Amino acid sequence: MSHQHIEQLRRLDADHHLHPFTDNAALAKKGTRILTRGEGVYVYDQDGHKLLDAFAGLWCVNLGYGRRELAEAASKQMNELAYYNSFFQCTTEPTVRLAAKLAELAPGALNHVFFAGSGSEANDTILRLVRHYWAVQGRPEKFIFIGRQNGYHGSTVAGASLGGMGAMHKQGGLPIPGIEHIAAPYWFGEGGELSAEEFGRQRALALEAKILELGAENVAAFIAEPIQGAAGVIIPPDSYWPEINRICKQYQVLLIADEVICGFGRTGQWFGSQTFGIEPDLMAVAKGLTSGYLPLGAVLISDPVAEVLAGQGGELAHGYTYSGHPVCCAVALESLRILQDERIVERCADDTGPYLAERWRALGEHPLVGEARICGMVGALELVPRKPSRAFFADRGRVGGLCRDIALEEGLILRATWDAMLLSPPLVISRSEIDELAEKTWRALDRTE
Ligand code: PLP
Repeated sequence: MSHQHIEQLRRLDADHHLHPFTDNAALAKKGTRILTRGEGVYVYDQDGHKLLDAFAGLWCVNLGYGRRELAEAASKQMNELAYYNSFFQCTTEPTVRLAAKLAELAPGALNHVFFAGSGSEANDTILRLVRHYWAVQGRPEKFIFIGRQNGYHGSTVAGASLGGMGAMHKQGGLPIPGIEHIAAPYWFGEGGELSAEEFGRQRALALEAKILELGAENVAAFIAEPIQGAAGVIIPPDSYWPEINRICKQYQVLLIADEVICGFGRTGQWFGSQTFGIEPDLMAVAKGLTSGYLPLGAVLISDPVAEVLAGQGGELAHGYTYSGHPVCCAVALESLRILQDERIVERCADDTGPYLAERWRALGEHPLVGEARICGMVGALELVPRKPSRAFFADRGRVGGLCRDIALEEGLILRATWDAMLLSPPLVISRSEIDELAEKTWRALDRTE
C-alpha cells in the first residue's frame, strides 16, 4: 500500500469507524493498523510487516488464514442459494447437515441445535430458552442465571449481563435483572495460601452457597466458560468442575458451558467439556465453528431440554434473520470436515499441543513471568514485579500492554488482559512456528521493563 493510500484509509477510519473495545479518540490520533492478507498462521499489515498471529484473530481462526476450501464452500453455496431462513416451515441443506454434524460431534445428549449469528446471540438465545423451559413446566420463578466475575459471554445486553466484566456493566445500565455473579477459580490471582485444588473446591462451593442464598427454586441456570478466556485464560483446578456438576444436578440448576472459545479443539479435545468432564445441559459455540471465516453461533441443547421446548413450548418466539444462514453453515461444514480429515484436534493433542506446552512453560523461567499456564492450545503468562510472589503490579495492565506492543514490534500478535499475556494460536501451527513464537515472546519479555 502506498503512503497516500494508508493515510487516506486512516483518515476515513478516524472520521467514520467506531472500533469495538477501543479508546477511539486515542486510536484516531495514532492511526489504525490495517491488515491486508493472511496465510497460515501469519497476517500482513499495510506496510507489509509479517506478523505471527498467536491469538488466531480473536480466538477463532483455528484453521489459519487463506484456506481456499472455505472460500470455495462459501462461493458454491452463494451461487446455488445465497440465503434462505428456517422460519416459515422451511430450511436449507447445509443448515440441516450442520445441525446433524454438531449433534454427532458434541458430547452427551446435546443432540439439538438452534443457530445464531455469533457467540453473543447464542448466549442471548440460551437466556430466553432456559427461562422458557422452566416457565412451560409451571416453574416461572426459576428465573435467575448465575454467571462469574470477569466471565465473558458476549456484548449484547443479555451476553454482557451474563458476563461479569465490570467495565461493560458500567456502560448501558447492566446487568439486567435476574443475573447474579460468583467469583472465578482464579488461583494465581486470588488463591492466597490455599493449594490450587482446595481453592478450586472452595470456588465451586461458592455456587452452592449462592444457590442456597437465592433459593434453588429461583435459580434457572449456571453459565461458565470451561476455561475463562477474556478474563486471562483462567484454567480451573481439577477439583472445580466435578463439584460444579454435582451442585447443578443436586439443585436442578441447568448447567451451561460457554464453549465459544474452547469448542472445536482449543483445549486439546473437541470440546472443553470433554477436557474437564463437564456435563452441560446446553452449550454455546461460535468462533472455531467456521474458523472465523464467517459469523455463526449455535446453541446445542440436550435431549431432555429440547423435549420440553419442542414438546410443550408451543411456538418458539425467538429467532434471527440469519439463524442457520446457508452460506455460514456450508463454511462451518467444510471447516469441521478439514478438522476431522486432517486430524487437527488429534495432532494438537498428541504432537503440537505438548510441544507448545513445553516451549510455553519454559517461558516461565523468565524473571518477569510469575506463572506460565497452558491447556491444549490456549495459555497465559502472568507478568509480576517480584517472583515468586504472586502479587500484581501496582499499575495493573501497564506492563502487559507494553509487552503486547513490543511483541508486535517483534512480529508477534499476543493479547494482554491486565498483565497476563494470552496465547491462542491457530490450531494448525507447526513446530517450527511454535519455536518462532516462543523466541519472539522471550525477546518481547526481555525488552519489557
Ligand atoms: N462467549 C465467549 C466465551 C467468548 O469468548 C465470546 C467472544 O469472545 C463470546 C461469547 C461472544 O462471541 P461473539 O463475539 O461472537 O458475539
